[in-house]
Amino acid sequence: MSMITNPPFPNNYSKEFLVLDHGKGSYVYDTEGKRYLDLGGGIAVTSFGHGNEAILKAAVKQMKRLVHVSNLYTTQPTLDLAQRLTTASPLPEDQPWSPKMPRSYFSAVHFGNSGTEANEAALKYARVYAQRKTKSNGPKILAFKNGFHGRTLGALAVTYTPKYREPYEPLMGGVEFLDFNDAAGVRKSLSRDFCAVIVEPVQGEGGLTPMSSDFVRALEETCKKHDVLIIADEVQTGLGRLGTLFASQMIGLTPDIITLAKPLAGGLPLSATLLPEKINSLVHTGDHGTTFGGGPVTTSAGIAVWDILNKPGFLTKVQKKAITFKVALEDLVENSPHLVSVKGLGMLRGVEMKEGERIPALLQRAREEGLLLLRSGTNVLRMAPALTIKKEELYDGIRILRRILEEL
Ligand code: PLP
Repeated sequence: MSMITNPPFPNNYSKEFLVLDHGKGSYVYDTEGKRYLDLGGGIAVTSFGHGNEAILKAAVKQMKRLVHVSNLYTTQPTLDLAQRLTTASPLPEDQPWSPKMPRSYFSAVHFGNSGTEANEAALKYARVYAQRKTKSNGPKILAFKNGFHGRTLGALAVTYTPKYREPYEPLMGGVEFLDFNDAAGVRKSLSRDFCAVIVEPVQGEGGLTPMSSDFVRALEETCKKHDVLIIADEVQTGLGRLGTLFASQMIGLTPDIITLAKPLAGGLPLSATLLPEKINSLVHTGDHGTTFGGGPVTTSAGIAVWDILNKPGFLTKVQKKAITFKVALEDLVENSPHLVSVKGLGMLRGVEMKEGERIPALLQRAREEGLLLLRSGTNVLRMAPALTIKKEELYDGIRILRRILEEL
């Protein structure tokens, strides 16, 4: 394995790194040529693997044409991706959403470069809406324990993990945390003092717990009653990860704002904050902005990604693969004394370990065996492979994991 120790990175990062060189499909290769099956998908980013022809071509073609124009101007790829994102509807449908039956719900998209920026923008828009609408709401924001929304100071304020937050306090005020899936708590706590609730359909970093249907119902009813906005942070769960375009569709949530990032540009940095007209109509010129967000190269890649996701049959295939994945993991759990349960939904899956403290050593062993995995929360081994991963590759990865678990 090609490892480097003490690179000139700040100490918030590890002291030791595996140095990767190139990738193909679901595999990455280090500088010595050792091959790794990436079941982490670059932390849920490389949903179409490495070297996808359509994404590659789109980005390279645009690189040669025009790379940057700032937000004083715009370009056709940016307009085209915005158009695609604003004609999709998050509302649950009897039929899966298809481009042939668009129901415009979002009227505007703010492009950024990362998940944290998408959430920063969502929080700002929520405060603008609460202040400027006819009967104003207070500025408070409800977030949930074990939620993760990013590392910049605004998004960090709604991120739960105390160890991420405490060194930087005081953070943005007005944030309250409730237990995730606490439907009664939501009904009791929410009022017009709040402008928004921010929630992940499945807690990606916090243990892969999905929103329960009671919780979804409580949020929707209470938010409607007090005109509090629901921000669905779909940075990790959106864009096909659960087998539907938006995770909200799968869990039956109707958010006012959706934030997207990770796979949006196939590995290039791009995020989107989707807004309905009721919010956008209250936003004024200059309220928010960015230099790089939504540049022509990343949005060209984003169009290729969007068009792959919306190809007839693509998401149905992902849903079928997700069932295979779940069944294989259930078998793994049944046959390992170290595992408790299968977590997550769709192609965002994990296995809960009895002894979470064994996870770092297990991740290391997996790496030695050519398998890249992730952790979620304290005791879940997380997997977010490419949506395009082959079934045999999934089985290969799980076989390696089984072998490593048997060594424990
Ligand atoms: N929101 C969720 C749900 C995430 O999983 C992440 C990253 O893991 C973020 C926000 C932050 O995204 P980024 O690291 O691109 O800022």
